[in-house]
Amino acid sequence: RIRDHHERTGRTRGLTKLSPKRASDPYVKNNTVEVQDKPVPEIGADEILVKVGGAGVCHSDISIIAMGDETPLIGSTLGHEVAGTVAEIGAGVIGWNEGDRAIVSLILSCGQCRECLSGRDNQCEVVAPRDALAPLSPGIGSPGGMADYIAVKARHLDPIGDLDPVAAAPLADAALTPMHAINSVRDRMTGDATVVTIGLGGLGHMALQILAATTGARIIALDTDPAKLAFAETHGADLAIPSDGDAAARILAETHGRGADVVFDFVGVQPTVELAVAVVRGGGAIRFVGLGGGRFPYIAGGGAGLPWGVNIERAYGGTRADMRQVIALARAGKISVEVVRYALDDAPQAFEDLHNGKIAGRAVLVP
Ligand SMILES: [Zn+2]
Ligand SMILES: [Zn+2]
Repeated sequence: RIRDHHERTGRTRGLTKLSPKRASDPYVKNNTVEVQDKPVPEIGADEILVKVGGAGVCHSDISIIAMGDETPLIGSTLGHEVAGTVAEIGAGVIGWNEGDRAIVSLILSCGQCRECLSGRDNQCEVVAPRDALAPLSPGIGSPGGMADYIAVKARHLDPIGDLDPVAAAPLADAALTPMHAINSVRDRMTGDATVVTIGLGGLGHMALQILAATTGARIIALDTDPAKLAFAETHGADLAIPSDGDAAARILAETHGRGADVVFDFVGVQPTVELAVAVVRGGGAIRFVGLGGGRFPYIAGGGAGLPWGVNIERAYGGTRADMRQVIALARAGKISVEVVRYALDDAPQAFEDLHNGKIAGRAVLVP
C-alpha cells in the first residue's frame, strides 16, 4: 500500500554532525552534534520509509564526530545501526507490508558488481572503492538512522520477524562485523582449538556469544573491565582474564606454549595489537577489527615476533549472508544485545558515556 508521506507531519528530527569548534581535539563534547529539525525523507519507487525504532551508537560515530571541517559528513545525519518498522512503501517495491519490522544493511552495496555477485558485498567495488574512508553506509555518506525516519532502498532491508527493533538495531554492525570475522576463520575453530577474543564492548560482547553459539572451540575472553569479564563468564567464555601485562604469559601457559589458533582483537590499541601478535600460534590467524590505532612491525624475513604461517586480515563489516545468520541467531535467542537506552535528544550523553567506557553492551538511541 502506498501512502502519501505528506499526510505525515512533514517534519522530523535527525542527529546531525556539525563542524567541530576545535578540530585538533580528539573528542569534543556536545559541540559537534545537534538534533535538528528536518523534512521527512522523500522515497523513490524502489525505496521504503522506515520509522526508526532504535539506532546503535558505535565507536566509529565518535571518530566521525571528531572529524574536522574537511570531512564531507558535516551536515549529514549519523547512525549506521538502524532497525524499525516499515512506514511507507515505494510504488515499485514488492514483498513488504506496512508495519513489518526490518533492519537496515550496514553497507549500501550495489548488488551488481563483481564483488557483490561473488558474495563479497562488504567489498562492493562501487560503494567501497580502494581509497574510500569507509564503504557507503547509512550515516557514512548516506543519511543515517539517528532520526525519526530513514529512507532506504528496499533491497537494503532484511526482515527481523518479531525482534524488538531497539534490541535488533546493533546487530547491523556490532553483531554483523564479528560474524564476518568469525566466518572467515570458521574452519580453524574446531573442538580442540583455542580462540582468544580481546575486548568485550559493543562488538566484543556479541562476538563472544556468536563464538559460543556456533563453534566448539575453547574461548578465552579478555577485557580490562572486571564487570565485562563477569559478563563473559556467564555468556560462553571458558576463561575470562584481565587484559593486562600478564595476559600473554597466561594464554601461552593455557595452550602449552603453542598459542591460540585464532585471535580476535576488537579494540586495536597498542597493548591489544601486541597481545594478539604475542599469543597467536604458528599457522594461526588474527582478525584485527577494533580501530584503536595500534601497530605492529612486520619484518620480511625476520617476522618481528610473528610465527610462521600466521594469517592476518584487516576485517571490515560483513556480507548480507553474514547478516542473515546474525538475524537467525538472534531470533533463536542464541545471541542478544545488552542494550543501554537513551532518548535521541540525549545522544551527546550517550557518546560521552561510550567515550568514557561506561556502556556495558551497546548504547541505543530511541527516537
Ligand atoms: Zn560501527
Ligand atoms: Zn557492488
